[in-house]
Amino acid sequence: MVFRFALIVGIFIAWASPAQSAHYFVKNQSEYFEAAKKVEAGDIIILANGEWRDFEIVLTGQGTKTKPITLISEEPGKVLITGQSNLRIGGKHILVTGLVFRNGYSPTGEVISFRWTKKDLAYDSRVTEVVIDHFNKPDRFESDYWVGMYGKRNRFDHNHLVGKSNKGVTFAVRLDSKDSQKNYHRIDHNYFGPRPVLGSNGGETLRIGTSKYSMFNSHTLVENNFFDRCDGEVEIISSKSGANTYRGNVFFESSGTLTLRHGDGNFVENNVFMGNGKDHTGGIRVINRDQTIRNNYMEGLRGTGFSSALTVMNGVPNSPVNRYVQVDNAVIENNSVVDSRRITFAAGADKERSAPPVNSKFSGNLLNGFGDGTFIKVQDDINGIRFTDNQLTAGNMEKPVAGITAMPATLSRADNGLLYPEGLTVGASRDLKPVTRDQVGVTWYAKPATGDRFGKGKDIAVAPGEDSLTETLAAAEEGDRLVLSVGDYVVNKLLPLDKAISIAGPAEGGAKIIFARPSLFEIRERGSLSLSNLLIDGALAPDSVGNAVIRTTSYPIQSNFVISLDRVNIANLDVNKSFHVIALGKSSFADRVTIKNSNFLNISGSIIQAAAETEDYGQYNAEYVSISESNFKDIGGSVFNIYRGGRDESTFGPHFSLSESNFLNVGKSGNNASGAAMVLHGVQHSDIRKSNFADSAPIKIVHTVGRPQTRVAQNIFSNTPAPIVEELIWTGAPRAKMSDNVVTDGTEK
Ligand code: CA
Repeated sequence: MVFRFALIVGIFIAWASPAQSAHYFVKNQSEYFEAAKKVEAGDIIILANGEWRDFEIVLTGQGTKTKPITLISEEPGKVLITGQSNLRIGGKHILVTGLVFRNGYSPTGEVISFRWTKKDLAYDSRVTEVVIDHFNKPDRFESDYWVGMYGKRNRFDHNHLVGKSNKGVTFAVRLDSKDSQKNYHRIDHNYFGPRPVLGSNGGETLRIGTSKYSMFNSHTLVENNFFDRCDGEVEIISSKSGANTYRGNVFFESSGTLTLRHGDGNFVENNVFMGNGKDHTGGIRVINRDQTIRNNYMEGLRGTGFSSALTVMNGVPNSPVNRYVQVDNAVIENNSVVDSRRITFAAGADKERSAPPVNSKFSGNLLNGFGDGTFIKVQDDINGIRFTDNQLTAGNMEKPVAGITAMPATLSRADNGLLYPEGLTVGASRDLKPVTRDQVGVTWYAKPATGDRFGKGKDIAVAPGEDSLTETLAAAEEGDRLVLSVGDYVVNKLLPLDKAISIAGPAEGGAKIIFARPSLFEIRERGSLSLSNLLIDGALAPDSVGNAVIRTTSYPIQSNFVISLDRVNIANLDVNKSFHVIALGKSSFADRVTIKNSNFLNISGSIIQAAAETEDYGQYNAEYVSISESNFKDIGGSVFNIYRGGRDESTFGPHFSLSESNFLNVGKSGNNASGAAMVLHGVQHSDIRKSNFADSAPIKIVHTVGRPQTRVAQNIFSNTPAPIVEELIWTGAPRAKMSDNVVTDGTEK
């Protein structure tokens, strides 16, 4: 706001000296383009408050350091750019501020571009106090950038970018021509708000460079930004060029890492990673030459492997630019890794990545592990790293490392909110001051809330009867809970969901939903559904292609959704041979599908179909699928069918867990092409335990890329074949951990 005040004073001065500059107050697009044709150094275009629909803004010209060409909103936050819109700037000293992009998407590959054409790049230009809010292409797998930065010495600061859910990095710095290299750009004080899991590669929040241009230096400064729940994929930041500085940023509950993927001589200093125990939260991954990682603070991180709090990679000898250059001359010093699950040295060592780190230094670090597992892993020779003065205050080392000394110490929280060891001087400095949410982005646009969307609205009682549920649902609002009583609820129309809705029957049971259409619920944009204490009967449903109790719309859905079933009994889905309970379609993505304490009886198809992304691009339909304490009887198809094909390794999921459930006569329909009771294809984390399978088809697990973590333990398979585990790429023995399972004949596997 200080900046805006200065700017307004600037406008006033501009008015006071009309001979030198003009101001244009424009109310529609033709007035804008008329003004944009005329602007000269010092001129200001003011967009009138209101909605500007389908507005492809171009602003280019020759401003000067003291007289930029300015595009400003009449009032900050009151100029809404909607529909098919974007902003392109070229020339010199262009300044844009105060706009909000929402309710639409860019018709091109970028929402904000620091170039007008390939020949007209922006220099010394600035975009500040601009909002991009859920400005997503309709199809989640159609790619774009929200910001593409080209040219030199540009600044992007105090902006608010939230909710990118389609493919493509949120912010890309491009080095694809000489005029964009050694650029000295600044990216600072931005709020990078929640980026949901994409379920594919291309979900990075910030990328600087590409492998092709990674031998060039970028000299981009990324400073004091706040990355809030940026979960898109395994890389939060993908640094693919040289001489960048990442300083003073905060990574809050963000799954993934800051990855020094390509390019040499980068500095990573004074950053804070706060995982709060969330899955796959990581820190910094080190690859290439001359990287400095100093005075960073990591706490509550749960990532392992390439997503460890600190990962120092093995390289490929004479690596091609798109693989892994050996770590050489890395300096990793005075970092604090606190309450975190893993640090990995010589990570990824294999036949190809056979070059361990050399000429490197690891010193003065505070190392404090979480849990009983191995905290510090060493996957190859680490004699090329000189370890000195590191203190291990908690956690296990895979093997002793000279220069890492175990020394228990009490950690206490200092005024800056960070933990420090009493009586030790190792680790991050005490004057580290993490940037706060309030210090980034804009003050005039609310930052998104945390937590569950369900149950935040009101309770609405619904009486039994024909279509009472239909009418109440139509009138309900985000977060509302529909409370059903004992009796029959007949539903004659498809129930569309474009908000988060809970539907709950009485705890003692007796609320029954009978539906007379091929589907009961359809998840649409912004829809999420929580069901509890209900009976759902499909006996009246007509035979139709794609019968399902819950299905997704046939249009792509941008927003991730949640489906939760608790104490729900579903029966009589058998009007045809493939009637499913939950069917997720193409370009739809569930953050979670949860089933617990529920019973399923006499169903011809599947309980969960999450197998629509069959093109083998590494895309899939659901991040977490969890089933517990539920019963499945007489189910014709694969009870759960989860598919993630291809060789891409950019995602953490899918995750599947099943526990304490019973399966009787499942997967044996002649119509079940897989011939399996469940199919987990390309699932990255599978945990199947304490469940009983009787008179059923076998479980089938297919491992594809990566390091799938699969555990099958303490299950009983009676008159049911043992689980089938296949490896599509890995050439060793199947990697599933099987233990304490009992198969029909009484043998343990
Ligand atoms: Ca990636």
